[in-house]
Amino acid sequence: MTNLGFPENYVEILPEVRAFLQSDLKLHIGGRWVPSISGETFETHDPSSGRLLARVPSAQADDVDAAVRAARATFDSGAWHLKLSPSDRGRLIWRLADLIETHAPILAQLDSLDNGKPVKKAQQVDAPLSAEHFRYYAGWPSKIEGATIPVNTPGTFNYTVREPVGVCGLIVPWNYPLLMAAWKIAPALAAGNCIILKPAEQTPLSALYLARLFEEAGFPAGVFNVLTGFGETAGAALVAHPGVDKIGFTGSASVARTILRNSADTLKRVSLELGGKSPNIIFADADLEQAVIGATWAIFGNNGQSCTAGSRLYIQRSIFDRVLTGMSDQAANIRVGMGMQTDQPDLGPVVSMEQMHTIMGYIEDGRSSGGQAVVGGQRIGGNLANGYFIEPTIFTGVQDSMKIVREEIFGPVVCAMPFDDADEVLHRANETPYGLAAGLWTRDLQTAHRFAARMQAGTIWINTWGDTDAASPFGGYKQSGHGREMGKEALDLYSEVKSVWIRVG
Ligand code: ADP
Ligand code: MG
Repeated sequence: MTNLGFPENYVEILPEVRAFLQSDLKLHIGGRWVPSISGETFETHDPSSGRLLARVPSAQADDVDAAVRAARATFDSGAWHLKLSPSDRGRLIWRLADLIETHAPILAQLDSLDNGKPVKKAQQVDAPLSAEHFRYYAGWPSKIEGATIPVNTPGTFNYTVREPVGVCGLIVPWNYPLLMAAWKIAPALAAGNCIILKPAEQTPLSALYLARLFEEAGFPAGVFNVLTGFGETAGAALVAHPGVDKIGFTGSASVARTILRNSADTLKRVSLELGGKSPNIIFADADLEQAVIGATWAIFGNNGQSCTAGSRLYIQRSIFDRVLTGMSDQAANIRVGMGMQTDQPDLGPVVSMEQMHTIMGYIEDGRSSGGQAVVGGQRIGGNLANGYFIEPTIFTGVQDSMKIVREEIFGPVVCAMPFDDADEVLHRANETPYGLAAGLWTRDLQTAHRFAARMQAGTIWINTWGDTDAASPFGGYKQSGHGREMGKEALDLYSEVKSVWIRVG
């Protein structure tokens, strides 16, 4: 069997990836590799070819309990947040970033195989951004400070300290498997917590590989634990466990509601980074060449499988046809293919058959409500028929009230709609339960600032789309989430503030 039996046009599977896929994959608990207690496993597949990649343990409530005990024991021992100096903690986090960088080709192949994304993108975007995330937070352990407070009581000294929350359950999605994990792990570590990571069942591989890098970096056992498993079992048990102090979640709004309900009994701290239906507005005075490219990649980047996808496109009426023609040309030239093929495509498949059916359902719904897919709108067959490929799709003739315009699709589908004036489009842009990101394209400074102030979203992009940085806070207004990840704001999600009073007079 050449190249592990993957399609002939695949790049060579790295020996390390080969060995990893063929190894007996286990949960990582308390510094040890263990099978699930029940012995249950599940399969993870390559969405480009449908091929089975590996079997991984399916963690259940008893495995969650074991992981919580291990993380708790490490936390209570102070091995991470008390016995290591801030500088040593920073050094370990930095070393992890170095390891992610040197192992980037392996991590990229694992994420490409598991998620379908082009391996080149995983190598050039996901892996370096993940490393950068750890580097940014490596600087924080020595800078997390409290304050001395000028209280009114005479003879009394009051100060604050910031302490880790404790054991954090981090539940992440499949769209950027390594990066979404890094977004949560890095600030949680910097703040001194012990972690249980639950990757998405669609993409469990890079999380397990990351645990090896934690070992190699020399973290104390039990600081970082990984449970592969399903949301309804492993995820739900983490949320309900009284020994978990905090849940950090990225995923869908519907699962977030379940998590909030299930966290009520233990009154758990929960932060949520959820979906969106982000408005992207192009004014007639914009640099249209830039706007057309920007709006194209705002939706089709990562196949629309981004919580910030620019899926509601509002185009000023006088330039509607021009922009649409430009975007249609762009979209028609996007090369869709298998994530690991030697001739690298721009986009891979969507993550799973289930997701493909969901997206196709929205496309059908858009059509039956009177919309037209002027570009795309079909599943791709031919030599891609074994995977889950959908054409980049642009809808016109749709109304704000339609399901396809209102609901998050999480696929390569954009709704293009004309607007006439600024007040109208501002109102329409904000008329959504979501508020993760919003963008506009204009050369007018006043419009830019006015919209930056009045659009209800955690991130505003003006004449650009998709920029993020470890140092800049990210998160949602309204039903797009609770709390801010990245930047110093993320440290708030993973720390408690203690106020200390001392009678000195
Ligand atoms: P998506 O719709 O992007 O697949 P989900 O919200 O379904 O996102 O899943 C995101 C993460 O949440 C995954 O790791 C998944 O296993 C987990 N998850 C799903 N259901 C639950 C649940 N009931 N409790 C905890 N975690 C869950
Ligand atoms: Mg998979």
